[in-house]
Order: sequence, then C-alpha cells, then structure tokens
Amino acid sequence: LGVFADAGVLGVAGAREPPVGAVGNETPAAHAEDVVDYVLRATLDPTTHIIHGDGTITWRNKSIAPAQELWIHLYLNAFKNQLSAFMREHIGGRGSSTPEEWGWIDVRRLALRRADSPDGAPVIDLWPRAELRREAPDGQVTADPVDASGIASDAGGHAADEDETDVRVPLPYAIAPGQEVVLEVAFDDKLPQVVERTGYHGSFHMVGQWFPKLARLEPNGRWAHFPFHHLSEFYADFGTYDVTLDVPAAFTVGATGALVESRVADGRRIERFVQHDVHDFAWTAWDRYRSAHENIDGVAVTLLYPPGYARLAGRELAALRFALPYFSSRYGRYPYDVLTVVHPPHDAAEAGGMEYPTLITTGGAWWALPGVLGPEIVTVHELGHQWFYGTIATNELAWPVLDEGLTEYAEVDAMAKWRGEASLFDIGGLELSDVAAEAVGGNMAVHDEPVAQPANAFSSGAAYGRLVYARTASLLETCARVYGDEAVARAVGTYARRYRFGHPNPEQLVGAFAEVMGPEVAATLRSALFDKGWVDYAVDEISTHKAERPAGVFDRDGKRETVGPGTGGDGRWESAVLVRRRGNLSFPVDVELTFGDGSTKRERWDAVEEWKRFEHSGPAELRAAVVDPDDRVIVDMNRANNFGRPDGGVAWAPRTLERATYWIQLAIQALSP
Ligand SMILES: [Zn+2]
Repeated sequence: LGVFADAGVLGVAGAREPPVGAVGNETPAAHAEDVVDYVLRATLDPTTHIIHGDGTITWRNKSIAPAQELWIHLYLNAFKNQLSAFMREHIGGRGSSTPEEWGWIDVRRLALRRADSPDGAPVIDLWPRAELRREAPDGQVTADPVDASGIASDAGGHAADEDETDVRVPLPYAIAPGQEVVLEVAFDDKLPQVVERTGYHGSFHMVGQWFPKLARLEPNGRWAHFPFHHLSEFYADFGTYDVTLDVPAAFTVGATGALVESRVADGRRIERFVQHDVHDFAWTAWDRYRSAHENIDGVAVTLLYPPGYARLAGRELAALRFALPYFSSRYGRYPYDVLTVVHPPHDAAEAGGMEYPTLITTGGAWWALPGVLGPEIVTVHELGHQWFYGTIATNELAWPVLDEGLTEYAEVDAMAKWRGEASLFDIGGLELSDVAAEAVGGNMAVHDEPVAQPANAFSSGAAYGRLVYARTASLLETCARVYGDEAVARAVGTYARRYRFGHPNPEQLVGAFAEVMGPEVAATLRSALFDKGWVDYAVDEISTHKAERPAGVFDRDGKRETVGPGTGGDGRWESAVLVRRRGNLSFPVDVELTFGDGSTKRERWDAVEEWKRFEHSGPAELRAAVVDPDDRVIVDMNRANNFGRPDGGVAWAPRTLERATYWIQLAIQALSP
C-alpha cells in the first residue's frame, strides 16, 4: 500500500529534536517504559458483530512489591446489561441511552505461561479462579477511594455486585518485582449497537475497549483498577501493541499504529498494525469508507470518512494542518509516524469525538455550515488528546481535569490562534469564539463542585462538562491573557514534556506552574481547581466633582479666616473610584478611567487586597471607569458590574466578550428547560 510507504516500518518514535522556537526547555522522553505488550489477532464477523480474539500479553512487574493478583478490565461488559456500573449511573450526558443491542466480552482463556514457574507447571489457566463479579458491601455502586497521590486505590468498595468490567485474577504464585510473565488469552466480543465510543451500525464497526486489558500496577505495588464508570475513561501502562485484524476483503480498516502487513486471501483482508509507546489499541472496519491521505508535519495522516463527506473531510484536514504542528511546538513533538482520523457515519455519530493512541474519531453532519466550526473543534480537541491522554497517560477516573481539562484548553487555544474571535462560529458578521463559550459554561457551575475530583464524583454530566472542560479551559486562558500566552505555554509545555510517557497527577501540573510562573500563580490555579475558587471584579463606587477650597476656620499668617462651603477652587476635578475583588481568586487587572476631555488613564491593580480606591485630580471630569478593560479575566463571574459611571448610566458599548457572553446566555436560556 503505497500510501503507507512513508509511515515507517514499525511506527517507532524517532529521537526527533523539538522544533526550533519550541517553548519549554525540556526534551521529552523518546520512548515509554515497556510495561505490557499485547500481541493479538482479531477476526470480525460483520453480520453477527462478533470478534474472535486471541494472543498473548507480556507483562512486567515494575512495582516495588510482589504481585499476588492481576486486575483485568473487560470494559465491553459495560454494555452487557443494565446492572453494569456504567448503565446504573443515571447522570445524563453521552451514552445515557440503553443500547438497542447489548454488547459483551467473554474470556475463553487466560493462562499464565512461565518456563521457570515455582510450581513446575509451565502453563496455568487462571480464568477458572477469576472473580468476574464481587459483592459490593452495600450493594451499591460505590466511588473509588482516591489516596493522597490521586490514584484510585484497590482498597474496597470497588465493584458493583453485577458489574463485570473489573475482574480480579488471583495468581498461583507471586510475581516478583522485575519479573516478566506471559499470559495467553482467548476471547469473544459481541459488539453493541453503537452506544458511546464503541459498537456497530449496519456494517460500520468502531472497536474500542474490546480486549482483556491489564489495569495499571502503581509503583507502590497497588493496582489502580476500576469499573467502567459512566463519566470516566481509562488508565493503563505503556507498551507495544502488535495486532493482526482479519476482516472481509471489501472492508477498509483503520487502527492504532502503523500498517506493517496487508494481504487479501480467501475473501478476507488481513492487516497487521504495530505501535510502540502506546497504552491502548482501537480499530474500525467498514465497507463504505472513503479515504484521504496526507503527510502533515512529517506524520502520515489517514482520514476515513463516509461517502458524501469529502467537503467536510477537507475541513478536517485543514484543521489538522494547523493543529498538528501547533501542538507539536507547544507540547512536545507528536512522537508517532502515523495518525488515523475516523469520521463515523451519521447514524453512528456516538462513535465520534473519541481519542485512542494514534487514532481519533471526529464528527459533524455533511451539511455543516462553513461558519459553524463544530467539525474543526472536535477534530482539534481529539487531536489534543494525543498529548493529554495519549502520551501523558494520567488516571482518567481520578483526575479527568488532566486529560479532558487540559485538552479543552489546548483546543480553545489552538482554535483562537487559528481562527481568532470567530473560532466557534462566524455567520453574517456574528462572531463567537470557542473560549468565550467556555467561560460562560464554566462560571455557571463554579460554586457547585470542585474541578479536580474523580470523574465518578461529579453529580451530573452537565456539571462534569462545565467544570472539567469549560472551567479548566477558561482558567488557563485567563492565565494566558493576564500573565502572557508565552508563560502559560511554557508551564503547560514543561508539564507535557516532562511527563511524556508518564502518569502524572495534578500536583505535578501545579508544580510546573509554580516553577515557570511563580508560587502565586500556582496557588491561584490550585484554589481554582481544588477549592471552587472564583472571582468577581466590580466598580462599586465612582464619583467626580469640581475641586473646591477646603471649608472651615483657618489660622494663617497670624490671621483667622473662615471659608464657607462651595467656594470655587482652581478649576480642577477630583475623582475617585472604589473597585472590589470578590471571591478567593486573584489576578492583577487594569483599571481604566475615561475623562470628559476624551483622555483615558490606566492604573495597574495587583488585586492582592480585596478593594482599592483610585483617586485622580485633573482638568476634566471622570466619565467612566472599567475594571479589566481588555477582557483578560474571562473567568470573572459577572462582567456587567465591571463598568461604572458617576451618573449611574451604562458605561459604553460592551466589548467582544460581552457581546459573546450575551449571545451565549441567550442561547443557553433558549436551550434550557
Ligand atoms: Zn476530550
């Protein structure tokens, strides 16, 4: 297949240097630590939607403690029945509907192969002793305890009684630190009708979370494992995936990794994909795909899309042409040779908008108006996950802020750099930026719950969206507008490069901010993420009057003089503005005074204190005062009180963000019940 000729043989990450001018001063790791390798073969029956899979998993105990058990995730079982943890969490949001056809995974065999096994048996089938279901103490779906390091622990309260997504597999003997074992696996998947992220529709198949997958053993020897919760995503170790897919010859396949073998035999298409330095593998097969190929910034990009979507595919490629090199320069070079972008068919739109290593799914209707940038935004967002999820493999149950929050920030920032104020829509002169919408959404929920909490601790899908996505993005955008885009790029870039192929927690993100931007900014970020921090700047009082001679009785030069009130002065005006910072976040702001002669004066307020009175004496009367005139603090809870006039009137025509906020509030009101 010529189109893959430049994809490299194995998609090995080269030791490329960061591009000149890249922000951040650290060179990211060239490779991940190889903890778990999967060699799998999968055969798809497109009419029954059953996949037969088998192969081996090679796992190394990289922790400090002997492993007495394994934890295996069978996340396809989230769609097996209504008693799965996923289906029981009725919190709205994506994937809330019951699948029209159930999906599940049956493990046929899970055998431990070890030549030097202590009990002399070279192969032991572990599956008969596996605990597929366990009684939860109170029969309820319980939250995962999270220890101080932010890692979901395995200390009780895990599995719902009927949930079959998180399986404990006792071992016949302990696997010592540093030891390597091979597991032989065989399994059958029945794909659901597309629910969320995964499944089939007609002959379209999007196959994610489809194989028995080891949870991650933390360095301290505790397994970080959890059921497939409704709002949570995933967490796993890095390794090499070598997967051979066997589908009908008429099907086009897209998958994680580089295509290294392709042949057609006996009416079947056999394609083998290999990728190092990744922690998951997803694939798609459909007999109606159209495809486009392009080399973007040294990466072989394949776009798979439905018939009739060529124009939209062109828009998505244009977004990638901007975002792929942009993200590489900002967060460290994309470390893989390939990227596959899947646009699912309209009836399987639920498979869209999802990230896997080197494979993302996007979405949007073929008729999407050119001025509505939804398809571009989804594409840029999912691409951003190649950093914040893909190469920085955080625990997505414990800290969704680190994958979804940072990705949302990466998205709004990239869209603004690419499309400016019109990065959400641009129709008939009405422009709205992606980030303006985020600010409104984030402010709506700020008092409700913290941003940095486990995914399954959120009350609703709406709160999760407003806080994890919108609040994080608008906070970081505020930091960029207040302290400079370069500083934020360096802070997030330092975090992204330092923890490439790692598993950091929020402390390490805050630490990077402290290092680059100082302890005050780090404290602000911590408060905003963990303590529901908020801020509202306001012009509280404003006055201006002609200066008069001070009245009273004065003893001067041996004489006593009485000056009555209202005695004219020298024609100067005395003006004063009282501004307040409400809430527990603090960003320095400008205060702009506008005078009757048309002149303006800007004062800088560090806003460490809760209020400040600005006094001014000059030849003209004060007409208006505004706090933060450039809309830098986009997380300001109420921008309507940022303006003041001595006569109480409205100051002046609101600026861009005000217009945007107004339109978004109208839209939200119109859409809300
Ligand atoms: Zn996302």
